[in-house]
Amino acid sequence: MGTLGVLGLELVQMDTPPTTAYLQIYTEKRCMANCRFCAQAKGSSADMTHIARGMYVPADLEAVVMRLKTAYERGYLARACIQTALYDTWWEDTVYLIKSIRRESRIPISLSVFPLSTERFEELKKIGVDELVIPLDACTPELFDKIKGKSAGGPYSWKRHVDGLKRASCIFGKVGTHLMLGLGENDEDAVKIISELQSDNVNIALFSYTYIPGSQGNFRDKTESSVIKHYRTVQLARYLILEGFAAFSDMRFENGFLVDFGVKYDVILEAIEKGEAFQTSGCPDCNRPMANETFSKIYNFPKKPDDEEIVSIKMDMGLADRIPQS
Ligand code: SF4
Repeated sequence: MGTLGVLGLELVQMDTPPTTAYLQIYTEKRCMANCRFCAQAKGSSADMTHIARGMYVPADLEAVVMRLKTAYERGYLARACIQTALYDTWWEDTVYLIKSIRRESRIPISLSVFPLSTERFEELKKIGVDELVIPLDACTPELFDKIKGKSAGGPYSWKRHVDGLKRASCIFGKVGTHLMLGLGENDEDAVKIISELQSDNVNIALFSYTYIPGSQGNFRDKTESSVIKHYRTVQLARYLILEGFAAFSDMRFENGFLVDFGVKYDVILEAIEKGEAFQTSGCPDCNRPMANETFSKIYNFPKKPDDEEIVSIKMDMGLADRIPQS
């Protein structure tokens, strides 16, 4: 909906517009996969115009493509991100959309997709995809199986997703993945996989799990305060690892909770006050405003958090009892 607002196809009041155009290929067929958190899944009865909290209202393809060209030229949008479901003609439709955008514009294109053959990865690169993202969503193989693998009645496996990431990285140079927090993983699970993916040169975008009415199962069984504490802790750990300030091996965990980031308190404080750790992560220029937030709780800040927001981040983290004064 925010993308349609920027493109001038809907009247939307926004204090922070998206800097990427978020495009979901619309089909009335439900996805053949069965990710239990997803509104589009075959076993879901949720409204098909949603992904997480984001509303994806169908719009005319030609109008979107032409306005995307203008929005990119005028600097309103810096990237187009395409997501697709798994249905009979998904490949043809995806290629058609990418080629339609490329015919009009040089806007960088991200594609979030399940693992494909190496030939298809090559084809996607050739037609203009520059960021290829294969979402793991879960932080462990067990959780993956439960929410989008065999146990969920879906076609995916952790092994094939990891293999897809490796093969795609040989073609694209780098690849990305999405990790959704709040599915039952603990701090240690999340930080461990982030550290492993980071050393394999995988760009990690963090999402917060959002329950969609009609989707299959509500995984959020914790209180709001423990959910946000976990999210902030993992965001900060990710940032410290990515920026080279800390290593997973130096961090300390107790019963899965991170109790020591393995760096001095002033480094942690400076990182928190800089705010970057808590901004939306993922492809360049992806800010995903309100993708999984509510007005009372922002998980990914779409722009640099202001002073008031930094104070609330510190409160979210329970700073006093979580960060040792080492
Ligand atoms: S990180 Fe952002 S731009 Fe990249 S695939 Fe994910 S949602 Fe799209």
